[in-house]
Amino acid sequence: MRIDVVTLFPALFPGPLGESIPGRAVERGLVDLRSHDLRQWGLGRHRSVDDYTYGGGAGMVLRPEPVAGALAAVRGADGFVILMDPGGELFAQARARDLAGRPHLVLLCPRYEGVDDRIRGMVDLELSIGDYVLSGGEIPALVVLDAVIRLLPGAIDAASTREESFAAGLLEYPQYTRPPEFGGQRVPDVLVSGDHAAVEQWRREQALARTRRNRPDLLGRAERQSTGAAGGGGAWNRDLADDTDRWDVAETPEA
Ligand code: SAH
Repeated sequence: MRIDVVTLFPALFPGPLGESIPGRAVERGLVDLRSHDLRQWGLGRHRSVDDYTYGGGAGMVLRPEPVAGALAAVRGADGFVILMDPGGELFAQARARDLAGRPHLVLLCPRYEGVDDRIRGMVDLELSIGDYVLSGGEIPALVVLDAVIRLLPGAIDAASTREESFAAGLLEYPQYTRPPEFGGQRVPDVLVSGDHAAVEQWRREQALARTRRNRPDLLGRAERQSTGAAGGGGAWNRDLADDTDRWDVAETPEA
């Protein structure tokens, strides 16, 4: 996958994407990540990129010409252009999976008050990472790219992206490692029973219970998606089956 990021702060990339799972994905050549300084397409001697807002009001707005220039230079034939914007589609795992299947992503990261509205017609998607306002699109872009890169075939063990939170519309079940007892709390017996069917059933129940407790909104969605079976179990199983052939198994399981 090719990824181009357009930003006033290109040094923020790869940043956290240079370590651990995304870092290894880059090293293995699963992704070719480049950041571009928007000022390259700035106007005049000062390479200016922003100006006052028409109609008056606080803050500066990114002018359309430098952004259009950047897009013309990096989008190519197959670039899917994403504008980071608090008013965009709320980013979620289903969108991460969609983006992971595309050959080329271009992420626009505005600063200040955002970008001139005429740019919106030049992008394929506007994405928000939540209902709050950050100072710029770079951290949102890092969030989106981390979620996407770890889904690329070969980035991590396929089983971990199939069973984690949101993969089947539910939160993940509780996980334990050694020691068997900690602070007076024992690891649930079923997990050391060696009975795989019982473990699987316990995990499904726990995932449902945790989702019901913490995120009932997700459960409503999972139940509506379910293919007839009572409760969210149907959605869980169906989504697992849908995904089985889409992900390669990586050599190294990763935490
Ligand atoms: N004036 C804008 C906020 C601008 S914040 C408004 O009221 O909607 C500056 C830039 O930071 C935005 O253009 C966007 O690129 C980025 N940004 C801030 N919060 C964001 C969020 N929750 N999701 C995605 N991008 C965000």
